[in-house]
Amino acid sequence: MSKVTDWNSHSDDDGILWLTLDMQGTATNVLSISVLEQLDSLLDDIEANPPRALIFRSGKSKGFIAGADVNEFLDVTTTQEALIMIKRGQKLFSRVEALPCTTVAMIEGFCMGGGTELALACDYRLALDDSATRIGLPEVKLGIHPAYGGVVRATAIINPLKSLEIMLSGRALRPRAAKAIGLVDMTQPQRQIERAARGIALSPPPKQKMPLLGKILSLPGIRSLLAGFMRQQVAKKAPRQHYPAPYAILDLWASYYGNRKRMMEEEANSVARLIQGDKVRSLIRVFFLQTRLKGLGDKHAFTPQHVHVIGAGTMGGDIAAWCALRGFNVTLQDREAKYLSNAFKSAHRLFGKRLKTTAERNAALDRLIPDINGDGVAHADVVIEAIFEDVDAKHAIYRDLEPRMKPGAVLATNTSSIPLETLATVLKAPDRLVGIHFFNPVAMMPLVEIVKTESSSESTVENAIAFTQHIGKLPLPVKSSPGFLVNRILMPYLVEAFTLYDEGIAAEAIDKAATDFGMPMGPVELADTVGLDICQSVAQNLSAAFGIVVPGGLKKFVDSKKFGKKSGQGFYHYKKGKPVKDKDVDLGDQKMIQNRLVYRFLNEAAACLQEAIVTDKDLLDAGIIFGTGFAPFRGGPMNYSQLQGVDTILQSMAEYAEKYGERFTPVDGWSLVEDKT
Ligand code: NAD
Repeated sequence: MSKVTDWNSHSDDDGILWLTLDMQGTATNVLSISVLEQLDSLLDDIEANPPRALIFRSGKSKGFIAGADVNEFLDVTTTQEALIMIKRGQKLFSRVEALPCTTVAMIEGFCMGGGTELALACDYRLALDDSATRIGLPEVKLGIHPAYGGVVRATAIINPLKSLEIMLSGRALRPRAAKAIGLVDMTQPQRQIERAARGIALSPPPKQKMPLLGKILSLPGIRSLLAGFMRQQVAKKAPRQHYPAPYAILDLWASYYGNRKRMMEEEANSVARLIQGDKVRSLIRVFFLQTRLKGLGDKHAFTPQHVHVIGAGTMGGDIAAWCALRGFNVTLQDREAKYLSNAFKSAHRLFGKRLKTTAERNAALDRLIPDINGDGVAHADVVIEAIFEDVDAKHAIYRDLEPRMKPGAVLATNTSSIPLETLATVLKAPDRLVGIHFFNPVAMMPLVEIVKTESSSESTVENAIAFTQHIGKLPLPVKSSPGFLVNRILMPYLVEAFTLYDEGIAAEAIDKAATDFGMPMGPVELADTVGLDICQSVAQNLSAAFGIVVPGGLKKFVDSKKFGKKSGQGFYHYKKGKPVKDKDVDLGDQKMIQNRLVYRFLNEAAACLQEAIVTDKDLLDAGIIFGTGFAPFRGGPMNYSQLQGVDTILQSMAEYAEKYGERFTPVDGWSLVEDKT
């Protein structure tokens, strides 16, 4: 019998048993092995003396259950161990499902993975209708899928188009969206949720059933057609060789739906297989890295309300719109009114895409205020300068700004290439300048580099980190140095792609080698997407600092105004915004191409480690994964090098140095990357 410390049980006068999960010593509930064992022993009593109804709820202020304890996945080393763990969870949830009394999950706040699976094992699910509650099955993000009967139960009551979509994407739903697809039965505001849970418990409504369309889509022939179609959709985003989990969900549903017992068994077997190996470990690592970035600094120490952005171009316009979307009052300044119009158009598009109701969209638009005279500066807690890359223009702006800024307000620049030390020379208080370096497109890129100089004060940097968290981006503190971290590491990799192209290798062959490695997009297409003019200017800037040789082919494209996707022609020709790729090109020596691309990446990462551009290897991996999309299942360049074996990589790089040039000679920083093998 486990000692029950994390669950509180309380029977009320109506005979309802309220089972409250409130894990000791942590702010978040997770379904650890211990929590499940405690539930197991509670169920012994509940089965022996069933209450009139049972309601599961959380004792935490912020969430129901965040999912399984992913740390415990790392202890699993064999398929057998995985199966034991999974089957124990399955059995437990099946016991909940089989209870003779009515069972209700009262979901307040986030409810993820195992938490949602527990809720699905209950007769009814009731969700708090507020802005913080989210319900999902995000296991694919860790390279697995629901294992405690979640696939079986979700596809049994929800239209498979919807249930499969949430499992394949891993996206979490707001309460009303969850209600719309039948993932929850009812949503209620805070003041009524307890009464509603009691109401369901005492007079249970009819239980959720699969809608007719769902039943039709689940018929054998249609099921296999639909699974085939969905496999094709998944393949566009996640190749099977790197991301087997979504395919496993589809295989499970297509092959075993309708035979519940077998489907349960195969759900367990499938996750027991997937959980083995480095992929899941690396993805768990990415999850922890993300948590680390989210937790940097103290978000509550600085609570800005007003952001002033200067420069309404590609970056400034999108930064301003993003901040308004996230609830800030934003004033947006440019030289003349005509320069603001594009920014407002694209803000309209962003709000239309991201906000559901007209009221929300109008409110966001109201928060974004055109401000040609820069009156907002005096009220702003954060001023972001995003005018074009020109030292004199930026200096003029700072001279004008500084005397008008509130004491304690952060002055941030979005510059990519001008040293912050140079920019700070005109400031009376250079300690208040920090870089908040966003990436393009702002709405899509999760990472923001927080660039500090020797003179940036601690409080300025901390406030910049807190601000980044308030706007829902991941902050990465980096040292002020050319290219910071992300552009610095990306550029040698892109330049190697240009070199390969100049050697006569087709763009398609270069991109294939990179995507086969696991990059979300090949370097040639990436360069076309960023814009070849921008690539050239960043490459030239970094070549001055680090001696990178920029191949001539790139210049030819830029000189002939072939800038890539935005001009319709770059390395690729673009039709309706998509590159036209030749499927029949000679792919050349793919291993050689891949190694050359990846080695440049790894070598530059080691150089950044050596120069302490970020403080440690984990932050380096985090920055590169979230800033460049580096194959997440490889856990970042440091993790990848350690798993492959540093010596093996160095030996191969030395051979490449001999054959292809000095640039492959391992830098000294490799001594800081140890082997994990
Ligand atoms: P952009 O040319 O698209 O926009 C610059 C805007 O600044 C223009 O609208 C211009 O009218 C305005 N401006 C110029 N001088 C001004 C002044 N004195 N007062 C008010 N407004 C003024 O430039 P961008 O691409 O958005 O780049 C802006 C900054 O962001 C640069 O420092 C750049 O290095 C950096 N950055 C760019 C990217 C990118 O991909 N474009 C990515 C990261 C960082």
